[in-house]
Amino acid sequence: TQDFERRFADYLGVKHAFAVANCTVGLHLANAVLDLGPGAEVILPSLSFVATANAILYTGATPAFADITSLDDLNIAPRDIERHINQRTRAIIVMHYGGYPCAIEEILQIARQYNLAIIEDAAHAPGASVNGKMVGTFGDVGCFSFFSNKNLATGEGGMVVTDRDDLAEKLRVMRSHGMTTLTWDRHRGHAHSYDVVNLGYNYRIDEMRSALGLVQLEKLPRNNERRRELTAEYRRLLADVPGLLVPFSEHPGTSACHLFPILLGSDIDRHSFIERMRDQGIQTSIHYPPIHQFSYYQERFGIWADQLPLTKAVGLREVTLPLYPGMTRRDVKAVVDAIRLVIERSGLG
Ligand SMILES: *Cc1c(COP(=O)(O)O)cnc(C)c1O
Repeated sequence: TQDFERRFADYLGVKHAFAVANCTVGLHLANAVLDLGPGAEVILPSLSFVATANAILYTGATPAFADITSLDDLNIAPRDIERHINQRTRAIIVMHYGGYPCAIEEILQIARQYNLAIIEDAAHAPGASVNGKMVGTFGDVGCFSFFSNKNLATGEGGMVVTDRDDLAEKLRVMRSHGMTTLTWDRHRGHAHSYDVVNLGYNYRIDEMRSALGLVQLEKLPRNNERRRELTAEYRRLLADVPGLLVPFSEHPGTSACHLFPILLGSDIDRHSFIERMRDQGIQTSIHYPPIHQFSYYQERFGIWADQLPLTKAVGLREVTLPLYPGMTRRDVKAVVDAIRLVIERSGLG
């Protein structure tokens, strides 16, 4: 695990990396070490996986959902972040949608101006970068996921990274029961007892998963490169398909190309589109049903569903096409051919 952490930190060019059981607990630790408790508001995108918001609730803080930038840039909008800032605001959580870097430099400026912390949910984005700097290393804490469907997979698993020594010490202790010494140190006779200095958790990864992670990390740059080639091929083939938008055209920075999202024209019924793609043997998915629209969030916070118009539109129109390094150009063409067929048959193209 220490080896995996060291190499992951080196790959990102960050000072500290802590492997954890999954990204969700990593996000919980990030909120905890930044003391985002009751009374604190944290601004985040609603167009994310629910864990981004749940992690805020674990520490008793309150989420404030911001809209995305546009139908082309599905990342959190800097101007909508500013709209949500008030005296209780303490932090911003950004999520690099699909591996495409958010406007992190602009958001860092906002954070400095209002003295806010930044957590990066980089679950989609290991290997994405902006001006040569890796995503996940811009904010105070960055969190990565190694779940089976992510760019670097260990089954379950995650990593929390930071350049701040003060946060690193807290992360180290809180990931393992709040104990001051590690099992490994006691085993080696470096320590006989320990103190508990914090309400910690058992959020550790295990050695077997770290061993997988070491091997997967070696493959990550090559796999990301392959994802980028396949993404370029999709964009080329989809350019003349009517009735579709392909987000992140000409997007700044280098994407980890975790997802390939498209937006259906508002006259195409998404449910039938997905069913007809499935009939042709092609699985698609949706990223994401907006978090603020879920029953739990509606009941608890009563946020009106149409407060975030762009997020709402994407929540209704987005479809994620298959994308994985083992795909071939022929597979990409088969997906695009299927899309043409579905759209033509629906009589909407
Ligand atoms: C997958 C994912 C998570 C959660 O990761 P786990 O490792 O499964 O806990 C959090 N945020 C985003 C954006 C994700 O895609």
